Amino acid sequence: MGNMVPIAKPKSGAGIDLDAQMLIMRIQPDALKRPSSFDIESFFDLDLKKLTGIDPDYRELPVGIHGFTDSDKKECVISAKLMEGNSKPDIYFARSTMAHEIGHAIIHVPEFRLKKAILRSIHDDDHASLKMYRQSDIPLFKNPEWQAWRYAGALLMPAITFKKLVNDGVSAREMANIFEVNPAFVQTRARALKIELK
Ligand SMILES: [Zn+2]
Repeated sequence: MGNMVPIAKPKSGAGIDLDAQMLIMRIQPDALKRPSSFDIESFFDLDLKKLTGIDPDYRELPVGIHGFTDSDKKECVISAKLMEGNSKPDIYFARSTMAHEIGHAIIHVPEFRLKKAILRSIHDDDHASLKMYRQSDIPLFKNPEWQAWRYAGALLMPAITFKKLVNDGVSAREMANIFEVNPAFVQTRARALKIELK
């Protein structure tokens, strides 16, 4: 079941934000200079393999499965179907799924390979809700699902530009369109950064 997750090395939210920020600085530094949409698709297609040795791929996956990352096979797979959606919520959901899987690829694949453990993380409907990581026995900071969502939020909504928009009085809905994520994800990100949205 979806609730079985392996324990990851503890990470703080701020630490994950910093990791993501360093990656953006290397790959798309403009995304830190002005609030904009991080080109996650080009990162997935062109940079992921170079940076991590992990193969990105798009495949037909069973209904309800949006993506997965396999540390054993070193692959990060996104549902081909998910990429075909052309409504705004669909495109935005595809972007956050991709960012989530990239989080696993960057944080967890090297870690699990090092300890000779296997991470097979499946992003399915049970995991689609951003609240899913309110998961039983392990603390959030050791939960790889929580870590991957935090990473996804940090990649798509860098703290620095996120705070700038809030200070400029930009509404949550406008922010969602600027970052090209669904409004619920903006709310999650605000909570993560302990910012109150208007
Ligand atoms: Zn996951």
